[in-house]
Amino acid sequence: MILLSKAEEIIIKGATLVDAAGERRMDVLVRGETIVAVAESVEVPIGARIVDGANGYLLPAFVDLHTHLREPGGERSETVESGSRAAAIGGYRAVVAMPNTSPTIDSVEIVRHLHDLARNTLCEVALSGSITIGRLGEKLTPMADLAEFGICLFTDDGRGVQSDALMREALIVASRLGLTLGQHCENEEHAKGAPMHEGVWSSKLGLAGQPSSAEEVMVERDLELVRELGASMHFLHLSTIGAIDLVRRAKREGLSITAEATPHHLSLSDAEIASYNPVFKVNPPLRTAADVNGVRAGILDGTIDAIATDHAPHSPELKDEPFDCAPPGMIGLETAFAVAYTELVAKAHLRITDDPTLPALSMLDLVRLFTLSPARIARLDRHEHCGEIVVGARADLVVFDPTERWKVEESSTASRSHNTPFAQLDLVGRVRHTLYRGELVVTDADAQR
Ligand SMILES: [Zn+2]
Repeated sequence: MILLSKAEEIIIKGATLVDAAGERRMDVLVRGETIVAVAESVEVPIGARIVDGANGYLLPAFVDLHTHLREPGGERSETVESGSRAAAIGGYRAVVAMPNTSPTIDSVEIVRHLHDLARNTLCEVALSGSITIGRLGEKLTPMADLAEFGICLFTDDGRGVQSDALMREALIVASRLGLTLGQHCENEEHAKGAPMHEGVWSSKLGLAGQPSSAEEVMVERDLELVRELGASMHFLHLSTIGAIDLVRRAKREGLSITAEATPHHLSLSDAEIASYNPVFKVNPPLRTAADVNGVRAGILDGTIDAIATDHAPHSPELKDEPFDCAPPGMIGLETAFAVAYTELVAKAHLRITDDPTLPALSMLDLVRLFTLSPARIARLDRHEHCGEIVVGARADLVVFDPTERWKVEESSTASRSHNTPFAQLDLVGRVRHTLYRGELVVTDADAQR
C-alpha cells in the first residue's frame, strides 16, 4: 500500500460541484491543503491520485453544531478520537462538541485538556462551553475567559437554563462579548422527566409523556428576552410545530435568532416507540407525525437554519435498559447527510413516499444547511472562501454518491456506540470520500487512519 502524504496532489474528476455559487460539473485539483484548480477539464498531473467523481456530487465538507463526544468521563460510549472519526465518515470537517461531559466544559483547564486530545483528529473538534457552572443553572461560567480560549458557542445542552433571571443575565453578558448562546429548550416543570412525547402513543403504551409545551414555553420566554435585550440566540434541536412557528414569526419580526433541527426529528415519529426499543428514546422526544411535517416545513421555508446531528452515543451497557430507564440519545454523525438527503431530496424526486405532495428541497439548500449556515452560527467560517469550492479555498471536501442504496449496520459504526435509530431505513446516497485539509481521511466510506 502506498502511504499518501498530505503534499501529494489529488484530482477529483467529473463530479457535480454544489456550493454557495450553485451547481456545475468540474474537475478539481488539490495540492497540499488547498484547491489549486477548478475547471471543466483539468489535466491529471503525473503522480496525482485520481478520485472518480462521475455520478457524484462534490460538496464543501460539513459542520455539525451539536455533537456529544463523551470525553472526558464517558469514554465507554465515545472519545474525541472515535467521535471525530465517525464525523469524518459522515463528511464533516468540524463538529461542535457539547459541554455536558464529566467534568463539564466550564473552565479553562478542561478546555486545554480537550484541545490536547483533539490535536490530530480527522476533523476539527470545536468546543462549546456551558452557560452555567456544572450546568447546574445557578451561576454563570467565566464566559469571557472561555471565549478567549476559542469556545465558539455556549449552552447547557442536555438541560435548558430554567431560571428566567439567570438566562437574562447570560444574554446580557453574551451580547456584551459578542458570543452565541444555544438553548436546549425544555422547561423541566412541564417535562417532568417523562421518557417520551405526551400524546396518543404515550397513552397507548402506558408511558409518561412530556407535552410540546415543555419546549414551547421556553422558546417563548427566550424570544421575549431576546426581544427585550436586542440579543442573539440559537435554538437547538427544535421538534414541535408550535416551537418552529414561534421562531418563524420571531424571524419575520426581525429578531436575531437561528435554529437547528435534527435528522431524527425530520424523519421519525413517536409511533416508533411502540416497539419499546430504547434506541428511540431521545430528548427532545420523537414527536407526532404532524410535528415531523412541521420540522420539514421549517426546513423548507428557511425557519430552520441548520441540520445538526445531536449525536449522542451511549454504550450498550448503558442504553440497553427498559424504555423509561434508558438514557436519552441516539448517534447520527455517520448517517446525517444520507438521512436528510433521503427524506428531503430523494424521496420527493423518486416518489418513494406515501405523500405525493411532498416538495423536494434543492440540493443547494440541503448543502447550505450542512455547511455555510452552521459554520456561521458557530463562527467556524473565518477561513477564506469558506463553503465555496474555488481556487484558494481550503480542501475540505466531500464526494457524495446519490445513487447508492444502503442500510446502516449497527455493528460497523465508527462510533464506539451503536445506538442508531436508522438501522431499518433504506438510505439513498452515501458519503464516499472526505478530504480534510487536503488529506483523503475517508475513502470508500472508510476512515484512512
Ligand atoms: Zn439537547
